[in-house]
Amino acid sequence: MVLTGGRVHTLDPGKPLASAVAVSHGVIVGVGSDAEVARLVGPHTKVIRLEGHTLIPGFQDSHAHLLEIGEARMNVDLVGAKTYAEVVERVRAVVQGRKKGDWVRGRGWHEEKWTSRPKDAVRGFPTEAALSKISPDNPVILSRADGHAVLLNALGLSLMGITDKTPDPPGGEVIKDAAGRPTGVLVDRAEDLVHPPDPTPEERERALDLAEEECARKGITSLDDAGVSPDVIALYKRRAEERKLSLRIYAMVFGLEALKAFGPPQIGLGGGFLTVRSVKLLADGALGSRGAALLAPYDDDPGNTGLFRTPPEIILETARYGLAHGFQVNVHAIGDRANRVVLDSFETAFRENPGVKDPRFRVEHAQLLNAADIPRFATLGVIASMQGIHATSDRPWAPQRLGMARVQEGAYVWQKLLKSGARIINGTDAPVEDVDPIRCFYASVTRMDETGHPPGGFDPDQRMTRDEALRSYTLEGAYGNFEESTKGSIEVGKFADFTVLSQDIMAVPDPELLKTRVLLTVVGGIVRYDGRAPAPARH
Ligand SMILES: [Zn+2]
Repeated sequence: MVLTGGRVHTLDPGKPLASAVAVSHGVIVGVGSDAEVARLVGPHTKVIRLEGHTLIPGFQDSHAHLLEIGEARMNVDLVGAKTYAEVVERVRAVVQGRKKGDWVRGRGWHEEKWTSRPKDAVRGFPTEAALSKISPDNPVILSRADGHAVLLNALGLSLMGITDKTPDPPGGEVIKDAAGRPTGVLVDRAEDLVHPPDPTPEERERALDLAEEECARKGITSLDDAGVSPDVIALYKRRAEERKLSLRIYAMVFGLEALKAFGPPQIGLGGGFLTVRSVKLLADGALGSRGAALLAPYDDDPGNTGLFRTPPEIILETARYGLAHGFQVNVHAIGDRANRVVLDSFETAFRENPGVKDPRFRVEHAQLLNAADIPRFATLGVIASMQGIHATSDRPWAPQRLGMARVQEGAYVWQKLLKSGARIINGTDAPVEDVDPIRCFYASVTRMDETGHPPGGFDPDQRMTRDEALRSYTLEGAYGNFEESTKGSIEVGKFADFTVLSQDIMAVPDPELLKTRVLLTVVGGIVRYDGRAPAPARH
């Protein structure tokens, strides 16, 4: 296959721009001008005319939750609801079609984004009352947009045995009203009190199909799945071996116990479509639910400094285990205290194991950093796995939690990290955010919301350049997988993974970026999505 007549951003410093690419057996075999690549066209070559459109290395989402992207489409979608009443209404519409007793799941509520607070709100969170009224016979569980809190109705609470006597588990909270009754909201580790039935194998297959379809449509060719269970890895493995995956998956084993049971790293299964060589841990919770572990208390909750979901000694033990067994260690850390503890653990383990070269450990999110910790990413060679779009979706309310001084010192400080020599990889944490890389790219380079506010962006000196943003979504992501020699740029010998866009995201003005459409998604030389308008019929 030859793609010709385009603007090709290669990310190859020796040849940054080209107009044509040739592919054979899933690998790039030529990059250059149309004339240079035309020499490789034979009688059986499929030629795609790019008509001036832009071809880039395929987008890599370095932190997302693949099956949940599909599940989100199977469940009640609460994203964008403007009030709690709207959340309840969306649930009601679905409950009506379900058998009595079936669990109804939903995801994406976010009380900070509602235009008004429910009257009976407790600590700002909604309560089960309205939900229980419209769903007396079906248990309901609704995840907050960040996944760090759930809301159950009364039937859900009683099926799970949660009463006014249920204590807060370590690292979690059962929110209760003034009378001491659970309101239905469970924060962080308290979510573990709830065990709705697992999705069936058929539901999982369907979720994976839906997720792959969505990623292809949005131009994603590689995705880091940030924490999966052994049975999900088994599903990915079967799909990879059947050569049925349409994107490359870098799956992180969830938790130290699962890692110990996993066996040695598995690299490049199914022709480079599945790699399992990393573990994911959660150090703390999230900022929205005040679960992020902070060095000083929350501005809007004095006395609360957040919580650790994994004890620091387990983080250290995991770092040691990873170094001893060839696994990369990727730890979710949002608050400045969590980030410090993770960096301390990594530093200790590295110091004890000077023989292990290039471990490329990662901090997932790295949202709030104390100034003293910013340079440690570069010094320790720790990758900052950040989500450009979190900055613009969280930044409007982050100062309420943290105060402006902390936000400006260390929240989403991409330039401070880059200037210190750190590597940033980019993604969306989908389905927390839309998996769409264009929207995240826009947030990364503008730090404005999608209506253009605030003009110039939040903390504009921390914006990424277009070049930095593209690298964070391609070549740096590949580095985060130890795969920079096989993907992440358009170079001869690398996998033929690329995305063709309707316009040049390296050149169009900021507000135009959001109009970019994905025209083609190619993974391993195969067109996985074709969004070009059908050719006009000829007579
Ligand atoms: Zn995540």
